[in-house]
Amino acid sequence: MILFLLVFVSGVSSSQNNNVLVRTNHRLSDTIKKSDDTIPLKIKCLMSAYPDFIKGYEDDSLVWLDGSKMQFDDGLTKDFEKQLNEADVEDMFLTPYDTTMWSPSYLKDPGRARNESFFRKMYGNTSAEVQSHLVHVNWFGQKILFTSLNGAADSLRAVIAELSMLPQSYKKYFEQSSSFYWRKVRGANRLSAHSYGIAIDICAKYSDYWLWANPGKKEKDEIVYKNRVPREIITIFERHGFISGARWYHFDTMHFEFRPEIRWLQIDS
Ligand SMILES: [Zn+2]
Repeated sequence: MILFLLVFVSGVSSSQNNNVLVRTNHRLSDTIKKSDDTIPLKIKCLMSAYPDFIKGYEDDSLVWLDGSKMQFDDGLTKDFEKQLNEADVEDMFLTPYDTTMWSPSYLKDPGRARNESFFRKMYGNTSAEVQSHLVHVNWFGQKILFTSLNGAADSLRAVIAELSMLPQSYKKYFEQSSSFYWRKVRGANRLSAHSYGIAIDICAKYSDYWLWANPGKKEKDEIVYKNRVPREIITIFERHGFISGARWYHFDTMHFEFRPEIRWLQIDS
């Protein structure tokens, strides 16, 4: 209670601390939602999720804290595969994150499209640059690397604290986990979220991946959904700004990724 009050009091004293307050519940605050109508809601989500990097919106561009600008919307109409391979920042929000259903609809992969320039600028343009921001997190006795930027490692620690409260029978899902790895997405030419130190793959043994379960299928084919990761685990990650690959039509159920901007535009009621 005392801690909460301290956070709250400091939270209203400055905008920087206010962002910390917003971060703790991973919902877009009403203050930000109602502020400046010239700023699109998606930009406000980015500003709330990444206050150490994103300052605002000007001339249809995202304005970074270092003063540089980045195109937000390229105005192009893209088919499904182009959305994945050539996503602009706006395309990252095309599919709302829907926590009301457990079986994702056809081609709904919220957060799977990433603008590579955006993430490289934030987390590092090379493996070495990303690594300079990585810290060790104790994942159930396993040392894993996660970025300290944007409160990602702290959010993962908060996830761990909650997962630790689950019954002993859940422990098997936390074995054989992995996180940072500078690499391309399997079968594609774009960088995986693991390259930025914002993703963790848990429980390899109990994981399902759309291509393993549906061999030979292409992105736009109809596929059969499969998930063995308990919902309790997914919900805990989601509470702390992570998205789950179990929410994707192209499921990757071991995969959890720190994407607070996507979580803030979720459908949950
Ligand atoms: Zn993964």
